[in-house]
Amino acid sequence: MFEKILIANRGEIALRIQRACRELGIKTVVVHSEADREAKYVKLADESVCIGPAPSAQSYLNMPAIISAAEVTDAEAIHPGYGFLSENADFAERVEQSGFVFIGPRPDSIRMMGDKVTAKQSMIKAGVPCVPGSDGALPDDPKAIIQIARKVGYPVLIKAAGGGGGRGMRVVHTEAALINAVTMTKAEAGAAFGNPEVYMEKYLENPRHVEIQILADEHKNAIWLGERDCSMQRRHQKVIEEAPAPGIARKLIERIGERCAEACRRIGYRGAGTFEFLYENGEFFFIEMNTRVQVEHPVTEMITGVDIVQEQIRIAAGEKLRYRQRDIQFNGHALECRINAEDPFKFTPSPGRITSWHAPGGPGVRVDSHAYTGYYVPPNYDSMVGKLITYAPTREQAIKRMQIALSEMVVEGILTNIPLHRELMLDARFIEGGTNIHYLEQKLANQPSFSKDK
Ligand code: ADP
Repeated sequence: MFEKILIANRGEIALRIQRACRELGIKTVVVHSEADREAKYVKLADESVCIGPAPSAQSYLNMPAIISAAEVTDAEAIHPGYGFLSENADFAERVEQSGFVFIGPRPDSIRMMGDKVTAKQSMIKAGVPCVPGSDGALPDDPKAIIQIARKVGYPVLIKAAGGGGGRGMRVVHTEAALINAVTMTKAEAGAAFGNPEVYMEKYLENPRHVEIQILADEHKNAIWLGERDCSMQRRHQKVIEEAPAPGIARKLIERIGERCAEACRRIGYRGAGTFEFLYENGEFFFIEMNTRVQVEHPVTEMITGVDIVQEQIRIAAGEKLRYRQRDIQFNGHALECRINAEDPFKFTPSPGRITSWHAPGGPGVRVDSHAYTGYYVPPNYDSMVGKLITYAPTREQAIKRMQIALSEMVVEGILTNIPLHRELMLDARFIEGGTNIHYLEQKLANQPSFSKDK
């Protein structure tokens, strides 16, 4: 096992990784920008290294600075968390070439999955069902594109091969709008992701977002840890996640879970990963794979009892998976609300000093957050300041616990989306379970209390 790990991230996930290391008896180095110098989780680490000014391009994305920090502190491995460099194959490669262990998949797996076109092709080969669409990237010839769209059937979605974070997608309803949409998406993708390649998918009208968590070791063992329903989204960004997904037959989940584990064995995948699917009319359609730990991993941890971050570290150290599929038991229900520093109705970011922070507690309540009274939320990064997770034997009880936890939670000095979560936990359709990916946006558009002019 490693003696010292460098954490190349910030905020709640930097703290989460630190906690996993502590339990494993591993020392931690946290790298940070000038904006995060005073954060308590930075002080909690055994060592910390400032790697640059606030803008992430000069700090959390600064590969040479991070690798130098590992060198001067004698860290053996680097955990990238999520976001930033976590899915950057070049970074993983540079980490390994510099003699450190990258806590994640091999660079070639990251590269394959980072390009959604090659990811889909490899999944089709591995027998994982995908959203119907173009065979690979779209050609340049407009006539050929029109033919492909006719075959797929409108509406279609034009997606950037290098897209991520819910960006680089455009829905097309008619042939008249097709070529222009392709041209625009290509131009945007080139500018935003450095790769103008786009592909086409059938635009599913009412799907749910259901994903499968997997763990795989270097010895070709792979297991799946159940599913998460992340359908409550705004602008393709997840707002609430839960496990298990309400109302989906266990047989179906088991079949798709097995497929994912088998795909990992086939491609020689290593580490934690998530297969994201759209689920519609009883069918699963693969959309992409995330080759890292996800924000919503705690809901899986709550219902399986597996510490995903610790397992990532064990796998990176070369250990064999400690679990076989039959060891994985699913118990109870877990929910996660992402707490963002933003206006709950206008969604504009609300950075600043937190003058009062009171976290909820009690049975089945977990708070993953780096925030506290007096913490300054810098304007430079993602607005998420924490995650509120509840767990109970049933979904109904987990919702009840979330309602209570949200009512106890106090955050002052900045605006947060807690009022939005409070309303959603009382929403009749959400309580019923199984709302689709458009539900939240439709609700926001239709309810006067969520009106944008509020
Ligand atoms: P990203 O990497 O940007 O997160 P994804 O491919 O995972 O992109 O898609 C993000 C979200 O976009 C999905 O959760 C879903 O809400 C929507 N989406 C993606 N593909 C489709 C599709 N074919 N039909 C309908 N919605 C889709």
